[in-house]
Amino acid sequence: MQLPYKLLFISTPVSVIGTGLGGGVELALFNITQEMTRRGHQVEVVAPQGSVMQPFTVKEIAGELQIPVQNQTRNSPITMPKNSVLANMWEYARQVQTQYDLIVNFSYDWLPLYLTSFFNTPIAHRISMSSWTDAMDNIIEQVAIRFPDTIAVCTQAQAATFKFEQQCTCLLNGVDLSIYQFCNQPSNNLAWVGRISPEKGIEDAVAAAQITGIPLKIFGVKQDENYWQKTCQDYPDAPIEYMGFLSTVELQKELGQCLALLVTPHCVEAFGNVAIEALACGVPLIAYSRGGLTEIVQDRKTGFLVEPDSVQGLVTAIQRLDQIDRYACRQQAEATYSLEALGDRVEQWLQNILNNSTQKKSIL
Ligand code: UDP
Repeated sequence: MQLPYKLLFISTPVSVIGTGLGGGVELALFNITQEMTRRGHQVEVVAPQGSVMQPFTVKEIAGELQIPVQNQTRNSPITMPKNSVLANMWEYARQVQTQYDLIVNFSYDWLPLYLTSFFNTPIAHRISMSSWTDAMDNIIEQVAIRFPDTIAVCTQAQAATFKFEQQCTCLLNGVDLSIYQFCNQPSNNLAWVGRISPEKGIEDAVAAAQITGIPLKIFGVKQDENYWQKTCQDYPDAPIEYMGFLSTVELQKELGQCLALLVTPHCVEAFGNVAIEALACGVPLIAYSRGGLTEIVQDRKTGFLVEPDSVQGLVTAIQRLDQIDRYACRQQAEATYSLEALGDRVEQWLQNILNNSTQKKSIL
């Protein structure tokens, strides 16, 4: 298949792009669109109604949002609301598929995986979460076996949570480094960035701020208001400040001035965009040694990997922050997480899928 490609990107059905409820998927979709467009590919983005992704136009689709999988347990069945935006986005994809070489699915949902064999245009699936429910594991595995190379993940640690680990392409993530300013003179603040939701474990970062007395700035959308209120009640004396959900440009300005980013998930995170955004600003990471973070943090060089769920471990790492050279953090981001590096990985992935599909057609 000749470059450039005609690509149809289908966003997550759990959020209207720009609200932050889609977490790292929103930034990944934006960054991959930007880099693929820069490389001359033609990209159309399809997303729930109200989505904004300037300067790119979005084909907006009406319908009810999907409930995030984080609220589900291992045996949860697949559910979809009436007038599902997920189903509506894929109905649109079905109608326009002949205009595209390849469709890229950015959601962590059963339906697009199931639909793969019913489409004539190949579908690439960017899987943004670790193993969470049996139903999802099962359908991803079926696609991985039947359509080689079509399943991509963010890290090896994420892949290792699946039985079909060997069938996964690892893309990591990337950011537009020109937006993130290196800051070598931080103020006396720690940072926590992300969706405020129980699996993100913000209470541990708040507890560490209370023990050390170092103010903690918190950035992100309050996805679970009750959980946020409870955290504030449990640590009434913690020096915390809620800064709101900021745009990337504003976020990096604030984040860059912090001593370190605390990343405290209670689940196996696939990646952790916030970690590479911090590195891009020269901000060291203090992260639980769990999931994708184990592949991002270079222990004692660009931060510290801490025993999972250990607040004392966070405190000890905070006390050792002067051992980290902030310039080494920025360098790691430049070496591994630039948009160009991400673009190379994504382009190679798409090329493999298109080559497989061309070969398949010539055999038939
Ligand atoms: N984010 C943002 N503004 C904020 C706080 C967070 O844009 O004020 C974004 C951040 O840039 C990152 C995303 O929220 O892209 C969180 O993604 P991450 O991969 O860390 O976690 P996820 O929510 O996907 O589990």
